[in-house]
Amino acid sequence: MLEINELSKIYPGGTQALKAVTFNVPKGQFLAVIGLSGSGKSTLLRCINRLIEPTKGQIIWNGIDLAALPENEMRLYRRKIGMVFQSFNLVLRSTVLTNVLSGRLGYINPAWSFLNRFSKQDYLDAMKQLERVGIADKAFQRADELSGGQQQRVSIARAMMQNPEIMLADEPVASLDPVLAHSIMQYLDKINKELGVTVICSLHFLDLVHRYADRVIALNNGYVVFDGLPSEIDDMK
Ligand code: ADP
Ligand code: ADP
Repeated sequence: MLEINELSKIYPGGTQALKAVTFNVPKGQFLAVIGLSGSGKSTLLRCINRLIEPTKGQIIWNGIDLAALPENEMRLYRRKIGMVFQSFNLVLRSTVLTNVLSGRLGYINPAWSFLNRFSKQDYLDAMKQLERVGIADKAFQRADELSGGQQQRVSIARAMMQNPEIMLADEPVASLDPVLAHSIMQYLDKINKELGVTVICSLHFLDLVHRYADRVIALNNGYVVFDGLPSEIDDMK
C-alpha cells in the first residue's frame, strides 16, 4: 500500500510540477496516470521511487514515511520499486543477459567487473525473466542489436530481477507502434495479474487505459483532476 499525501514538487527554476497531489494505491492495483506533456507524470513517478525529492508532502509505504527512512533502508525501498522508462535505458553495448542481471544489483549500470558477483541462481532467474518476456534466445546478443519492443522487454525483465512490489512505468510504450505497445502492456498486465505486483504506468492513449488499467488518475498542470475508473473518464471530456 502506497499513500501519497499532499505531495508538491517545485524544481529549482521555480516550476511547480506537482500541487498537493493526494491518492492511495492499494497493493495489486494497475493504476494508469494520464495527462498532457508537462502535466507532472514523470515528476510524480520519480518522486515515488525517490529519483527526486518532493518539496512538500509525504509518501508513505506500508505505513512508513519515506522521509523518515535512513539511507540504508531507502536503498531497500528502492529495490522494491522496479522502473521502466520510455527510452528503455539499457546499457546498449552490454549483452541482454548482463542488462537483466544488473537488475539484481538494484541499479542499472552493469559493468563486467560485477559479473562475478552473480550466483548461479541469479543467472537462472535472469533466464527465467527473459523467457517470461519471450526473448530468452536473445540473451547473448548486444542490447543495441534488438528492436525497440525487444529492448523494452529486456528492461521489464531487468526490473523484475529486483522482485519488485511496485512497477513504475514512465510512458513505457510511447516510442513503440500500437502492436508492440499492446505486447508490452500485456507483459505488465501479466506481472500485475499473475504475480500481484502493483503497477503505476503513465500513458498517452486512452485505449490502453481502458484495456489494461483498474483505475486512472489524470494530472493537469500538477493537479489531480480525475481519479476513478477508466470507464468514467470519457464523461470528463
Ligand atoms: P510529464 O511527465 O507529464 O510530461 P514532467 O513531470 O516531466 O511532466 O514535467 C512537469 C513540469 O515540470 C514541466 O513544466 C517540466 O518542464 C518541469 N520539469 C520537469 N523536470 C524538470 C527539471 N528537472 N527541472 C525543472 N523543471 C522540470
Ligand atoms: P520525458 O518526456 O521522457 O519525461 P522530458 O523531455 O520531459 O522526458 O525530460 C527529460 C529530462 O529533462 C528529465 O530528466 C527532466 O527532469 C528534464 N527536464 C524536463 N523539463 C525540464 C525543464 N523545464 N528544465 C530542466 N530540466 C527539465
